[in-house]
Amino acid sequence: MALEFLHRQPVKIRFGSGSIKKLGEEIKTLGAVRCLVVCDRFLKATVEAMQGEIPEIAAVFSDVEENPQLSGVIEATKLAQKTQVDAIVGIGGGSTMDTAKFTAAIARENADALACFKGECPFPKTRFPMIAVPTTAGTGSEVTQVSVISHGREKKTINNPVFMPTLAIIDPALTLTVPPRTTMNTGLDAMAHALEGYWSKNHQPISDLTAIEAVRLVLENLETAYRDGSNLKARENMSLAALLGGMSFALPKTAGSHACSYPLSEDYHLPHGEACAFTLDSFVRINADERLETLCRRVGLSGTDELADRIKALKKLAGLKMTLSDLGEVDMDKLCRDAAKHPLMGNNPVPMDESALRRMFEALQ
Ligand code: NAD
Repeated sequence: MALEFLHRQPVKIRFGSGSIKKLGEEIKTLGAVRCLVVCDRFLKATVEAMQGEIPEIAAVFSDVEENPQLSGVIEATKLAQKTQVDAIVGIGGGSTMDTAKFTAAIARENADALACFKGECPFPKTRFPMIAVPTTAGTGSEVTQVSVISHGREKKTINNPVFMPTLAIIDPALTLTVPPRTTMNTGLDAMAHALEGYWSKNHQPISDLTAIEAVRLVLENLETAYRDGSNLKARENMSLAALLGGMSFALPKTAGSHACSYPLSEDYHLPHGEACAFTLDSFVRINADERLETLCRRVGLSGTDELADRIKALKKLAGLKMTLSDLGEVDMDKLCRDAAKHPLMGNNPVPMDESALRRMFEALQ
């Protein structure tokens, strides 16, 4: 088949420890004079200290929750209107960046958040410029056109160019405070993005290259970052892995592990990265083929079995949930039904119906 692909990566990326100091300058470069910073409670004090130094920060919304709710977007939008801002900055993990992205998309024209969420009306044509500043190393949200927002129990991944940040400031020093377990969850999320972008049915050459490098960086640095959070070199390499992981799945989209992660998060309350990692080594074995063997050899592994074993060992090291009994009482019919019907399951290179998923989950004893 002839090679054909469409690649775009429109986000300006500034990477480096200490690069957060350029935030004020970058806001001015965007032509903005009043911006709203979105963050969570953990980063509130840090952001308020910045507010003293950067006069362009007109307001701070610090109520983002994990698995962010649409109600947070609505509150942030109200604040943006009230304080008449002209740019939005999201400083935090994926939950914060996704809230900031959705807010930037609707606040300029004061669009109806719920109607946009439900797809009942299109997102407005104009939006505020948006700066994404990740403080975890995992989601890659800083370079994707995705916002993952929940309304009640419904967690929705909305893929729309309006969510593409204008600028990403990636300062690995901001991740030095991430606790070990979250370091592992988020680092395995970066690994899942790289692998799933690589084996997605929609994979393409540029994303394949970023995926291979992201997998190499995670294999070489995640354990060190987990054991010694103060190791800046390991943190830098994990921030780079997360960025490259984001670029790896942004266009091809993810596949089987991510499809399974939705019921695992919604019904068994696993954090996003842990939910993806739960089945990632299983999918390495299921999706093993010549392409995946090539990736393994390029990152210095003997093959797909070693890759699956390394992922499993990282999960074990951090005490992440790995077996069915770790989930408590499992409704296997619902788990397999929900995972099988998730649209991302259609991207998996090996077709996975409910009975194939049941066999996979039942092997996780
Ligand atoms: P998160 O943003 O929910 O943060 C997890 C925890 O880490 C929070 O308690 C937060 O306060 C804390 N934290 C963040 N930065 C910290 C720091 N520097 N030091 C100490 N603690 C810190 O977690 P996440 O894994 O970054 O994001 C997960 C969310 O992102 C999920 O909703 C997931 O669905 C979504 N996601 C989005 C994309 C995308 O492309 N938009 C991709 C993958 C995942």
